[in-house]
Amino acid sequence: MNEEGSVMHADVCVLGAGPGGAAAALQLSRMGVPCLVVDRAVFPRDKVCGDGLSGKVLTILRRIDPAVAERLSRADCKADSWGVSFIAPNRIGMDIPLKLGYEREMDKPVGFVSRRIDFDDLLVQELRQRPGVTLVEGQSLDEFRLEDDGWLLTGKGGGGLRVKAKLVIVANGAHSAFTRDIAGHGMDPDHHCAGVRAYYRGVTGCHPHNFIELHFLKGVLPGYFWIFPLPGGSANVGLGMLSSEVARRKVNLRKLLEETVAEDPVMRERFRGATLEGRIDGYGLPLGSRRRRLYGERYMLVGDAGHLIDPFTGEGIGNAMYAGYYAAMQAAEALRTGDTSAASMAPYEADVYRVLGPELEVSHRLQKMVRHPWLFNFLMRIGARNRELRELMTCMFNDVDLRNRFRDPRFYLRLLFNRG
Ligand SMILES: Cc1cc2nc3c(=O)[nH]c(=O)nc-3n(C[C@H](O)[C@H](O)[C@H](O)COP(=O)(O)OP(=O)(O)OC[C@H]3O[C@@H](n4cnc5c(N)ncnc54)[C@H](O)[C@@H]3O)c2cc1C
Repeated sequence: MNEEGSVMHADVCVLGAGPGGAAAALQLSRMGVPCLVVDRAVFPRDKVCGDGLSGKVLTILRRIDPAVAERLSRADCKADSWGVSFIAPNRIGMDIPLKLGYEREMDKPVGFVSRRIDFDDLLVQELRQRPGVTLVEGQSLDEFRLEDDGWLLTGKGGGGLRVKAKLVIVANGAHSAFTRDIAGHGMDPDHHCAGVRAYYRGVTGCHPHNFIELHFLKGVLPGYFWIFPLPGGSANVGLGMLSSEVARRKVNLRKLLEETVAEDPVMRERFRGATLEGRIDGYGLPLGSRRRRLYGERYMLVGDAGHLIDPFTGEGIGNAMYAGYYAAMQAAEALRTGDTSAASMAPYEADVYRVLGPELEVSHRLQKMVRHPWLFNFLMRIGARNRELRELMTCMFNDVDLRNRFRDPRFYLRLLFNRG
């Protein structure tokens, strides 16, 4: 890393220090590759999110650096969550633990819920201590020019911080100008979700082991209303809906959230004594239900900038971190060989879709199924009585191959005729 005139030079610039960028920078540091990380925010900063962190987060952190995973699993800013409750439009619910027999191993958390202002800061604190990582906060990079020896990145109108990098890992989120202007990926309302979230204190009826709740309420389909319990008696409450549906039905999501809490017969009771903390905020979720090109000359797109959010669950943090990890590996290889051409970046995309692709595909099918409430109701009715199915779903949280069973029509026939 060196500064020449007013331009900072770097082999690798990581644009954005959210989970995707942080994972990339941590992995680069582990491999001894210096990088410059630039974020327009100063941490700790908030990010509109459900705050639900799946098992993928700890899994990939363990691969990057077991000590970071260990520190995260001991952090007290999170509530350990041991499962997911799916509630169908007919209100039949199914509780799926994240791990079979988890009650015997509650000292080994799998998933958790943590406000992003805390979780992202935890990762950034790790970055600050890493050798080879230069972190610049409070600087926005919005304009990009490809020159012979790398990308020139600057603020709006060419001002602000100026960075010259041989390679850019683009991890600046759902509204990335790089994704839009350089990679040419616009927002596709059929593959994009709009979400709002709020924090409430004193919601009653939560699961004793902090299961996160996905309520597929009739008025919210195809999307869901969620309650994710946080430490200290608060909960992240929100709802998300496909953007094409929001536009078609002219839905005001903030209003829908308020109405659900106040008027839905079940929620009205559970929120009776609850208070809203702060305000209801919204943000976009670029879904991975349509594959995008994740690379080009001297760049790779990571996380939301690569449209990698799970179209059924809305999970994007773990996916962003996996993508960040693979982008770092590819960046190291490109620097080693001196080949930063678009073609040389292709293995990055292959890695991302090899690992996340099957899961994104199955989730897209599930998302489509949710558009048929009768089918969803039917499956939940069977599932609620079928221990084998519930255990299978628990295993599926940890095994993508098992998730593929959802693609096979025989799976549904077996469920129908084997209700044991
Ligand atoms: C309502 C809602 C609920 C969600 N719930 C969940 C959930 O429960 N679980 C889950 O896993 N996922 C959830 N997601 C998705 C999740 O929030 C994202 O997938 C995740 O944040 C992606 O991480 P990222 O690192 O790619 O991007 P981000 O977390 O968005 O980080 C991008 C970073 O880039 C910085 N940046 C942006 N522009 C610039 C610029 N021009 N210059 C410099 N820096 C810049 C930003 O300041 C930010 O720090 C939800 C999303 C929404 C909107």
